[in-house]
Amino acid sequence: MENLKTKIRDITDFPKPGINFKDITPLVQDPKTLRTCVEKLIGPYKNTQITAVAGMEARGFIFGSLVAWELGVGFIPLRKPGKLPYDVQKVDYDLEYGQASLEAHIDAVNPGDNILLIDDVLATGGTAKASCELIEMLGGNIVACAFVMELGFLNGRQQLVDYPVHTLLTY
Ligand code: IMP
Repeated sequence: MENLKTKIRDITDFPKPGINFKDITPLVQDPKTLRTCVEKLIGPYKNTQITAVAGMEARGFIFGSLVAWELGVGFIPLRKPGKLPYDVQKVDYDLEYGQASLEAHIDAVNPGDNILLIDDVLATGGTAKASCELIEMLGGNIVACAFVMELGFLNGRQQLVDYPVHTLLTY
């Protein structure tokens, strides 16, 4: 796992002063590390009854699509407002400062789908919690939430106590 950490770059004061942003682009640019990362994300779910993977815009699309491909299931994009062309279900949630929303197509989830939620970073947990709610509004079950890394000092897991949470790296 330490090898994965060498491929994550700290960018100070991005996107605003005081934030230390974890940049995963070196990781996804390196084919060996990318493969290791995807294999470790799917490890616990290889022989489970996952029927779809959902991922949040934008970096959740990268890892989520690869995980879906490896598990042989489809991918559900959870998008920022106004991006999806068909009818949507929307969920609003609070950020540290302000509000955000995510949308999914109303037919994105099949009734009873067992869904693995994937994103790059678990920070405060607001995005992941809202994503779980969105999937559940559409009739899906969240089997687990998996992330490349968690920023443990932000206690995001506290938002996700109702779901199994799997992270590869902790900061
Ligand atoms: P949360 O809602 O506070 O848990 O923030 C998680 C969302 O913000 C995820 O979709 C991440 O992609 C993004 N995010 C938060 N911090 C970082 C970071 O340091 N690097 C990359 N993405 C981040």
